[in-house]
Amino acid sequence: TFPCPLEAPAVSTNAQLFERAQRSIPGGVNSPVRAFRAVGGTPRFISRAEGAYMWDAEGTRYIDYIGSWGPMILGHGHPAVLEAVLSAAREGFSFGAPTEREVELAEAIIERVPSIEQVRLVSSGTEAGMSAIRLARGYTGRSKIIKFEGCYHGHADALLVKAGSGLATFGHPTSAGVPPEVVQHTLVLEYNNVEQIEAAFAAHGADIACVMIEPIAGNMNFVRAAVPFVKRIRELCDQHGALFVFDEVMTGFRVALGSAQSVYAQAIPGFTPDISVFGKVIGGGMPLAAFGTSRRVMEKLAPLGPVYQAGTLSGNPVATACGLATLREISRPGFYEALGARTRTLVQGLQAAADAAGVPFVVDSEGGMFGFFFTSTLPQNYTQVMATDQARFNRFFHGLLDRGVYLAPALYEAGFVSAAHTEADIAATVAAAADVLRAE
Ligand code: PLP
Repeated sequence: TFPCPLEAPAVSTNAQLFERAQRSIPGGVNSPVRAFRAVGGTPRFISRAEGAYMWDAEGTRYIDYIGSWGPMILGHGHPAVLEAVLSAAREGFSFGAPTEREVELAEAIIERVPSIEQVRLVSSGTEAGMSAIRLARGYTGRSKIIKFEGCYHGHADALLVKAGSGLATFGHPTSAGVPPEVVQHTLVLEYNNVEQIEAAFAAHGADIACVMIEPIAGNMNFVRAAVPFVKRIRELCDQHGALFVFDEVMTGFRVALGSAQSVYAQAIPGFTPDISVFGKVIGGGMPLAAFGTSRRVMEKLAPLGPVYQAGTLSGNPVATACGLATLREISRPGFYEALGARTRTLVQGLQAAADAAGVPFVVDSEGGMFGFFFTSTLPQNYTQVMATDQARFNRFFHGLLDRGVYLAPALYEAGFVSAAHTEADIAATVAAAADVLRAE
């Protein structure tokens, strides 16, 4: 046997683990938001999870409304998914060669999202978004892209950008290490601002490869793109030969089986985006993401076309087994009706608790995704989100954490309900929220 350095030492507290983590990992975390910087305090080190619950290193149980930031739509350790993963792992972890299972997953995605004729599987939402932009640029032969303030599409260089001082100026990097030249073709506009997108197309229409959007922006809590805004972008893209990219990494298979695009298609007859980007739910908690569109556009990708894209672990056999089993479960009749109803019960309960406490509060939800804000009207863009009451959010977050409810540790993040959350879990959450809000 090996001397076992990977074996966990005897029980440590969250604080001890955080202290230890900071010695070997920058900030003690492998993704910044986990460090609780926005809300303060000590991150919980999770030791295991089951259904709607997670337990930290100290054995404290939490009702989990993060669900690994979206993937765990069935709750943790769903038996059918677990069995699929174990059985796939026994057959091999990775082959770097084609498998039938990845074809099945591609077919399962295409079947559920009519705008897609072909998909390519990758390992993270960042990769999928980055590749979608390369494809849009390669297909159109154009360089410029439009994104919206407050939307996150992963940490590819060209997307780590904030708005310039006006429409004439393109973006500035939001991260050190991104040269200004790399974002010089990225235009950042205000979400839900029709005039700005019209002006951008009037000024640069012939050079715009794509417009990328989170249709329901979960990276500024929960802000819907207004129907007239989406409709106008669709028209402008068609008029100018640009591609409309829906980043459904968060909303995909989370807000509806047909994803957010099916929600917009109800309001805008015939609506489809051009390229769709998926992640999170399609991997069921394993590293898996995808981007897809028409065959005509996808054929620009290597090995058929000139747009290069590749990955050692792409279409990984264990991840695709996890994704396929998840898609199978969420496709059962009535799944989204039940999930949506459960989520609405939660947000309506939170609203009622805030109203009873006289605290300004608004909520919204779609399928199993929800948001709430400490303000009196639903924000429409990033500036309005960031103007909501941060101090109150932080008190609410910690009050609920102390009562065993785990919300996202930042006011600009969406929340997620899973099929494993019971009515009793929702009722306990609302009771805890009422308790916290009464003290406001
Ligand atoms: N796009 C959206 C809408 C996301 O919410 C995220 C991650 O939260 C990403 C892209 C990036 O995905 P990943 O973290 O898997 O790289």
